[in-house]
Amino acid sequence: MKKAIFLDRDGTLIEDKGYEHSIDTQKVFPRVADGLNLLKGDYLFFIITNQPGIGRGFYTETDFHEFNNHLLQHLNGNGINIEKTYFCPHSDECSCKKPSTKFIDEIVSEYSVCTEESWAIGDHPFDITMGINAGCRTAYLLTGHGRKHFKELKENNISPDIIENSFYSAAKKIKNWNK
Ligand SMILES: [Mg+2]
Ligand SMILES: [Zn+2]
Repeated sequence: MKKAIFLDRDGTLIEDKGYEHSIDTQKVFPRVADGLNLLKGDYLFFIITNQPGIGRGFYTETDFHEFNNHLLQHLNGNGINIEKTYFCPHSDECSCKKPSTKFIDEIVSEYSVCTEESWAIGDHPFDITMGINAGCRTAYLLTGHGRKHFKELKENNISPDIIENSFYSAAKKIKNWNK
């Protein structure tokens, strides 16, 4: 069985600029590629992202792909391959919006991934809830909206395995988790 990392995108890999989707202002957080390089080989990487701005009409699915491809190219240039990006475009209720585990369930069957050995990383409590509900380990980042939503973790009895200030420090902890 393979292991995977389910990566939130906005606020986790790149700055969360709300509904703004311009490649000119896309900003990857420091050492994200370094962190992923620590983990590659051990894990497959997937992006799972809620994009209600599509449903609300702030940007189109085409804009989303252009913006996302820009990030994928940057990561590629640093030796990182994201297997696939899963996104929920809905602004109303749906079956795929995080904390739904729908995309993880799809990945599990398509890639033979073992969720118990996999991780979900994100800057929002619903990233962690998704991971826990799928049986994964979880890492909460204080980047992006992480600080703003931090107290919601305790209020809702959500306990991430790791809470870190940066993607890179979380990656180091994941790398050494079972050693
Ligand atoms: Mg986020
Ligand atoms: Zn959806």
